Amino acid sequence: MTIPVNEPLLDETAFKYVEECLKTGWISSSGKFIQAFEQQWAAYCGRSYGIAVCNGTAALEAAMACLDLQPGDEVIIPTFTIISCALAVVQTGATPVLVDCDPRTWCMDVRQVAEKISPRTRAIMPVHIYGHPVDMQPILELAEKHGLSIIEDAAEAHGAEYKGKKAGSFGDMSCFSFYANKIITTGEGGMVLTNSHGLAERLRAQRNLCFQEGRRFFHTELGHNYRMTNLQAAIGLSQLETIEQRIQHKRWMAQRYSEQLKDIPELQLPVEEPWARQVYWMYAIVLDESRGMDAAQLAQRLMALGIETRPFFLGMHEQPVFRQRGLFVNERYPVAERIARQGLYLPSGATLTQGQIDQVCSAIRKVLQ
Ligand SMILES: *Cc1c(COP(=O)(O)O)cnc(C)c1O
Repeated sequence: MTIPVNEPLLDETAFKYVEECLKTGWISSSGKFIQAFEQQWAAYCGRSYGIAVCNGTAALEAAMACLDLQPGDEVIIPTFTIISCALAVVQTGATPVLVDCDPRTWCMDVRQVAEKISPRTRAIMPVHIYGHPVDMQPILELAEKHGLSIIEDAAEAHGAEYKGKKAGSFGDMSCFSFYANKIITTGEGGMVLTNSHGLAERLRAQRNLCFQEGRRFFHTELGHNYRMTNLQAAIGLSQLETIEQRIQHKRWMAQRYSEQLKDIPELQLPVEEPWARQVYWMYAIVLDESRGMDAAQLAQRLMALGIETRPFFLGMHEQPVFRQRGLFVNERYPVAERIARQGLYLPSGATLTQGQIDQVCSAIRKVLQ
C-alpha cells in the first residue's frame, strides 16, 4: 500500500452540512453556508470581508482584476511559486517581475524586492510557501513608501502567523485556495479577503459576471463566473470548525519527521523563523547537490518503496510558456533553480499516522544509505 502525499479528512459535520444542502435544494451559489463560510473565514484571519470563489487561481485573478493595471505596469512576484500567480498578472496585461527565494524559508527573498521596484511597479505579491509565512515587514514598508498594493497569496498557509498576525491579514487583498490538499478544503474552492468595502464590492462583481444591482443584464465591466457553491462552502465550514486540530496535526507531523531526519546531513529540513508560526502545509525537504542525486531520482526510489512524494515548483523564469513570450529571458535565480531540482515534499496529509511517518523516514534512510 502506497502512502499518499495527501488525503482529505472529512468528518461527520461535513456529511451533515452537505446533506442539509441536498435536502433543502440549495446546491448552487446561493445559500446560507456561503455567507457563513465567508464571514467565519474572514473573522478567523482577522479581516472584514470574504468573497468565496471557485478556486485559488480565480481568487488571484479576481484580486488582480481590481487593481486596474495597464500594459507595462509591473507586479513583483516570487519566481518559486505556482503558475497561478504569474497567470493572474499576465491576464491583466501587466508584467510579472521576479525575485529569487530565501534559501532557508523558500519564500520570496524580501531583500531582492527593493531592487526590483521601478517607476512602473504597482503591486507586490508575497506567497507564503509550504506553510511558512513571508517576512512581511520589509514588504509592508516598501509598499507604503512607493504606494504599492499588496496581494497576498496565503493558499499554503491557512492559520500561519507572522509576528502574531495571521497570514492573509496583511495584503490589500489576500487570496486563498481550498483545493483538496490545502489545510482547509472545499474540494475545489478559494476566497479573497479584504478590509475594504469598495474592493469587496468589486470582487463580488468580478465573481458574478459583473451583473449590476439595479439593472442585472447591463454591464460596464468584464467579469467572470467564479462562484463557489453552497455544497463547497458547507464542506469548508465543517473543516473550519476543526482548523486548530488540523494545524496541530501538521505541527506534530513536522516534529516527528524532523526528529527522525535531522541527523541526515545531506537533507535540508523546513524551518520556523522566530517571528513565524509555521503550519507545515507540506513537509518539504531539499537534498544536497553533493549527493549526486536529484529530487526526481529520490522520488523514484521512494515510490518503489511505496512512498508518494511531489516535486517542488519549477521557477516561473524556467517556464517555456513565458520564455516563448519573451518574458524572463536570460534571468537566473540560483536558489529557486537549485531547490526546484533538489526539493520534494513528503506525505503530509491530515490522516497521516506515526507508523506511516516511521515508514517514510526509514525508506529515506534506506535510499540515502
Ligand atoms: C494551491 C495554490 C494556488 C491555486 O489554487 P487552486 O485552488 O488550485 O486554483 C495558488 N497559490 C498557491 C501558492 C497555491 O499553493
